Amino acid sequence: MSNKKNINVVRSSMPSFQEYVDEIKVLWETRWLTNSGEKHKLFQQSLETFLGSKNVVLFVNGHSALEAAIASCDFPEKSEVITTPFTFISTTNSIVRNNLVPVFCDIDCDTFTIDPSKIESLITDKTVAILAVHVYGNICNVEELAKIAKKHNLKIIYDAAHAFGVRYKGFPISNYGDLSMFSFHATKVFHSIEGGCITTNDDHLAKRMNIYKNFGLSDTSDGGDLIGPNFKMNEFQASMGICNLRHIHEYIKSRKNAYDLYCSLLKTKNTIKLMSLQPNVESNYSYFPVVFENNCVRDKVFEELKKNNIGARKYFYPCTNEFNSMRLFNKQPTPIAKDLSERVLALPFYSELSSDDISLVCKIVLENC
Ligand SMILES: *Cc1c(COP(=O)(O)O)cnc(C)c1O
Repeated sequence: MSNKKNINVVRSSMPSFQEYVDEIKVLWETRWLTNSGEKHKLFQQSLETFLGSKNVVLFVNGHSALEAAIASCDFPEKSEVITTPFTFISTTNSIVRNNLVPVFCDIDCDTFTIDPSKIESLITDKTVAILAVHVYGNICNVEELAKIAKKHNLKIIYDAAHAFGVRYKGFPISNYGDLSMFSFHATKVFHSIEGGCITTNDDHLAKRMNIYKNFGLSDTSDGGDLIGPNFKMNEFQASMGICNLRHIHEYIKSRKNAYDLYCSLLKTKNTIKLMSLQPNVESNYSYFPVVFENNCVRDKVFEELKKNNIGARKYFYPCTNEFNSMRLFNKQPTPIAKDLSERVLALPFYSELSSDDISLVCKIVLENC
């Protein structure tokens, strides 16, 4: 017997149909659909305020933003970037696609983020940067990373795709590091259908990214010196972003309620580990990951949920250093990341998830672990 209803692992938050239509209506008059239009400017300014950053540079998606951020630093070819394998492949691809070498560092078993105590032994005279990832709304040890970067003169780039709206000690998370990437993909806490941005307090890097994302063309020069792609965000994306930003506090509040209910239903089982919230961090409740005793149990729970039309995601699995495409770079073992990737499962999680659905998911999880 299976219930007919589907529960997806994620579901995009959306403004009302009317709100979006009202926002885009003007585009039928102006006929200005992309290339830094009115909506793009308004969205960018609203984000500079919301994310607390001097510069926000918008992109067509988060991955292109990350590629542009790395490109803007102009590192010598084949330089090394210390990074985490416990992430979405986008992070690692962005390093390799910039002709740089990813050096994988293991993670901390509680926060699932790069372990600062393991970084220094990986630094060589070719190391230029640390590309760290805030995971599920948990943040990296930003203070330790800043110390290491300062001591060794490295840039810090954060993949903050999971950390939109997260604050640490009262400050927006974009305050840390040289550059941070936020993804506005439809499945994220906050979205503009597809989209993304880089935050930076460095005006020079922001300027370079603005030129880079538009084929390397600047407003003032006839022939630029950057060989850029087309990574521009369009007005329909920006309009969706403007609408969703009006509701971001509601979205995060509903996610917190879902988080609290999940925790109360699952915490009694001591063979599963739940992600705990970090001190001094205002989370955005991005995902609800559960860590099972071993790989067998994880896969069994995944299959049972699937039989009941409930989506769950082995996220992240496998670690990015285990991808075939990364075999040339997979030199250092990262056993903690590997072990976690084999035991973790992200359960359905979104702002409109009902209490009944959460109860049903938890019932199936508890019966099978
Ligand atoms: C979603 C995501 C990306 C890619 O962002 P897109 O907007 O989908 O291109 C990169 N890194 C992480 C950790 C992500 O979750």
